[in-house]
Amino acid sequence: MRILVSNDDGVFSPGIRALARVAQEFGQVRVVAPDVEQSAMSHAITVRRPLHYTKTPIDGLEAYRVDGTPADCVALGAHHWDKVDLVLSGVNLGHNLGHNIWHSGTVAAAKQAAFLRIPAIAFSAPYSDTPVDYDVLAPFVREVIREFLAVPDMTLLNANFPTEPRGLMWTSQSVRHYEGYVVPGEDPMGRRHFWFAEEPQEQVEEGTDRWAVERGYVSLTPLRLDLTDEPLLARARAVGEGVGTGGA
Ligand code: MN
Repeated sequence: MRILVSNDDGVFSPGIRALARVAQEFGQVRVVAPDVEQSAMSHAITVRRPLHYTKTPIDGLEAYRVDGTPADCVALGAHHWDKVDLVLSGVNLGHNLGHNIWHSGTVAAAKQAAFLRIPAIAFSAPYSDTPVDYDVLAPFVREVIREFLAVPDMTLLNANFPTEPRGLMWTSQSVRHYEGYVVPGEDPMGRRHFWFAEEPQEQVEEGTDRWAVERGYVSLTPLRLDLTDEPLLARARAVGEGVGTGGA
């Protein structure tokens, strides 16, 4: 099995080393990752300049650093390696739960693989002043990959680890609404600057990704590329007057 490993924290992140080490147990591994951190870049792609990559062996692994986004890395990596069987992204330094799935470069790398019909998993772990113990997480990374490969038609999975996992749990994406606000400040030169911040307005719902991680479980959320709101589409088609139904 050919496994392409990427991330959004950059090729030198400890998380990608830990993930690549476990990936080696499942097949041939190649790392293609951004040369600098690309967190919160979501699914950005580079279209106004060419991309470059440089061979950068890591722990004896074949690895390349790219001057592009996570999605660029997966597109480039898949183009230069015939028949990639699996893409693994992460392990991100920080969770990608709920609405963060929209912002995440880690998840975008996996999504890019799904667009190329390559099954993919995004991995994220907590981030704080206390470094994550990847030796503790490694058996669970292994278990997530096994579960993923065991479920037929699984194409895109978002996995989030608690600090000390007690098991795996299938979950749905937590959707909470946010009160967005802007905190003004001033830099040492007296120039005004602004921080964007947000406050959730709802509690965490049972069975969601946040709920599982808060309880010490590895959250496994299958994702899909089709964002269509099917019930709403059906209602709109029933109500719509003079609007085409797209053949339905
Ligand atoms: Mn990141």
